[in-house]
Order: sequence, then structure tokens, then C-alpha cells
Amino acid sequence: MPETSTDRPVVTRIAPSPTGYMHIGTARTALFNWLYARGRGGRFLLRIEDTDRARSTPEATEAILDGMRWLGLDWDGEAVSQFEQAGRHAEVAQEMLARGAAYKCFSTQQEIEAFREAARAEGRSTLFRSPWRDADPATHPDAPFAIRVKAPREGETVIHDVVQGDVTIRNDQLDDMIVLRSDGTPTYMLAVVVDDHDMGVTHVIRGDDHLNNAARQMLVYEAMGWEVPVWAHIPLIHGEDGKKLSKRHGALGVMEWAAMGYPAAAMRNYLARLGWSHGDDEFFTDAQALEWFDITGIKKSPARMDRKKLDHLSGQHIAAMGDEDVIAGVESYFAAAKRPSLSDATKAALKSALFCLTDRARTFEELIDKAHFTMIERPVRPDEKASSQLDNVSRGILSELTPHLQNASWTRASLEAILTEFAEAQGLKFGKLAGPMRAALAGRSVTPSVYDMMLVLGQDETVARLNDASRG
Ligand code: GLU
Repeated sequence: MPETSTDRPVVTRIAPSPTGYMHIGTARTALFNWLYARGRGGRFLLRIEDTDRARSTPEATEAILDGMRWLGLDWDGEAVSQFEQAGRHAEVAQEMLARGAAYKCFSTQQEIEAFREAARAEGRSTLFRSPWRDADPATHPDAPFAIRVKAPREGETVIHDVVQGDVTIRNDQLDDMIVLRSDGTPTYMLAVVVDDHDMGVTHVIRGDDHLNNAARQMLVYEAMGWEVPVWAHIPLIHGEDGKKLSKRHGALGVMEWAAMGYPAAAMRNYLARLGWSHGDDEFFTDAQALEWFDITGIKKSPARMDRKKLDHLSGQHIAAMGDEDVIAGVESYFAAAKRPSLSDATKAALKSALFCLTDRARTFEELIDKAHFTMIERPVRPDEKASSQLDNVSRGILSELTPHLQNASWTRASLEAILTEFAEAQGLKFGKLAGPMRAALAGRSVTPSVYDMMLVLGQDETVARLNDASRG
């Protein structure tokens, strides 16, 4: 049996089928492969498994590339199209034939059906046993044939899996699978192995829904005498209810998370924690993940989505980001959410307000919501809740307040002193003053602190907004 080796430089890959959006599970698999390779100075490759022509679309390929780019999972070289390698796959099938590890099978679809039916009726295994396996080539008809691998019928095939342990499959459970169809097209099972071999993949980290395929793929490695990669079949992700992720859980595509305003860095951190851990560490940077990640730390039981945990991590990442990264993150959120892009003026306003926005926002969407006051122009139109704060009495209070601000020095300490003194003189609790001020400055009842807003808006704009509101 070919040996599994780990001493080659690490090459991993993600091999998505372009049949829809980029699934969150694929994103997690991509991340694990990326972390494993990049953390070891290895290469991380991308292969688009587009052999299924009926289901593959260029839009879906684009969606995968978009998802990978948004997540910041850069791959080495060009993305490989599996379909474009079909000639090479056929060549390998011919070589298997030449080596005597495969044979020409002339059985027709009807004959195979009839075999299965008879087997069913007699209570035998329905695995097809081709009569052509050991046929003398002299007896071969001049007819279309498929190429089938000559699978061992006795003994066992063992998959040494880093996550699942040794998985043993009885060889009498394996059929002589087709590697090249009678129309000359390769099967998926052949294509995957040839591509992984040709791309020099050393570690196959993928969902455990492919574990059964591994046993069949081993047949090709063995037939060709190729080195078997290290297998790591990772448990799937489940929803918060513990059930397998499905449409009903919603938000299955990574770009949906981008459109909700989660930073890619937070998503990487969160996805890394789905099925893998490093001690008790929850919040970590890419650099830490790259240093810590190892396939031996992947858990055997399915990971569960936890939106609260993601929210929490996301808030921590936003708070830890530098201003430039926040602005870039907001821009990428706007693009994903299909919101109009930020003007330079809005960007500048947003930047000046970041000091009071980043510490409590769990997503860029929340951050932008808190930044609302910087993005609007006079006259501020209060929403319904804020309007109720602007009755005659509070408008009177605001008009008495503005003269105190007109000559104030615009520092937090002096503004605090002025407002505190004013509230005391009016016999008002600060809250009674803050409500109308929020309504006047932001048109909302939930905002950053009034001091933060006044400092961001500056003296002229603050006074003007207060004046607007006091006039009603
Ligand atoms: N194309 C397969 C999928 O999208 C992955 C195959 C593999 O990783 O070997 O599930």
C-alpha cells in the first residue's frame, strides 16, 4: 500500500463545486486549509470542481471567488478548473488500463440494471460485478466501453484519518467504480484524485461527508502508485438547534454575513472556532490562529453555530481595529449590502467619529447606525420617538441652552461643566436635557453620548442643530 507522508512541504486546497453561493461550511473548510498551509509556509490552492456541467455556473464560480476574497483567504496561482483537466483525467484512466489496474467494461446500462434486479430478487448485494473484469481482450467486442478500476475484492482498505482515526472499509463493499465513462468523460472520483496528485496536494482537509469517497479514491492512488495525502475529514457544522445546516437556518452564504456587517477578521476568528480550539482562547488574531492551528486540534463532533458568540467576537474585533481598517471594513460592508458607496466627506465625518463608535458596535451595520448623526444634514428630521422629546417645554430649554454654548471652549471638560451647571440651574436631571439634545443633534433617541456628538459635530453645527430644534 502506498505510504502516507507528511514530510513534503505542505500543499492544501479548497475544491468547491460552483453550484450556488459560497456555503459557510465551505468557508470554514477553506479557512482550515488556508491556516494549515499558511501557518507552515506551505501553499494553499483553489480548484473549482466544475465537471458537472449541468449544475455548474460561471456566476457560482464568481460567488466563490468573491467569498474567498471577502474572507481574505488568498490562494496561490490561478484557480484550477477541474473541467479543463478532462483530457489529463482520461490519460490517467488509459494509464490505469495499461498497468492492468483497470479494465474495459462493455456492459450496457440495461445489462447493469438487469444484474441489479436479479441481485435484489435473490437478496444478494447489488454492487455491480462486471463480467469483463477478467475477460480475455480477444473476446472484446467493437463497442463502446467504460473504464473501471479493478478494486480488490478481499481484505480491507484503511483510511488513516487525522480527525476520524483509522476508518476501515471491507473491500467486498467496494465496486469496480467507473473512472472513464463510455463517452470519454472522466468521473468525479477520478478527477479529484488526479487533480490532487497533479497539484501536489499533501493534505486533504474537507467535510466528513466525503469520508466514504476517500475509500474509493484510495483505489486510484493505489492503481497509480501515487502517494496518498494526509486525510482530515472534519465534522459538518450544525445549526443552533443541533440539526444539520439547511435552508431553514437562513444565512448559509458567507456574503450574507458580509452584508450583515460582520468584519471578515471576526468571521475568520469565529469560523476557526467552529470545530477547532486552542485552549480557552475565543478572541484571537490571524497571526495567533496561524501559529496555533493544527489539524490534530479538530474535534470529532459537529460544531454548532452560535450567533451570540459571533456577535461578541465581532464587537471585539471592531473595537481592536485601527481606523483605516474600520473604514475599509465599512466600505466592504456597503459593497456586500449593496448600499451606495461612501463619499469622501462622509468618510471623513465617519473617521472623526470613530472614537465614540467602535467600542459598542457589534457589526459595521450597528456602527453605521450609531454614526447616523454624522451622515445627516440640517435640518435634522427627528424620527417618531425623537419627536416626542421635542415638545414646547424642551424646545424652550434648548433655546435657553444655546447661548451658553455659543462662546464655550469646545472641549469635553468645558462642555461637561456647562451642561451640568445648566441642568442644575434649570432644576433638571441630566437625562431630561440629554433626550431633547439627542433628538436635536441626531434625530434619534438612541445615540452616542451627547458630549461625543457635540465634539464630533463641532461648535457651529451643534449650535445650528440646537437652534433648528428649538425653533421647531
Ligand atoms: N467538490 C466537493 C464539494 O464541494 C469537495 C471535494 C473535495 O474536497 O475533495 O463538496
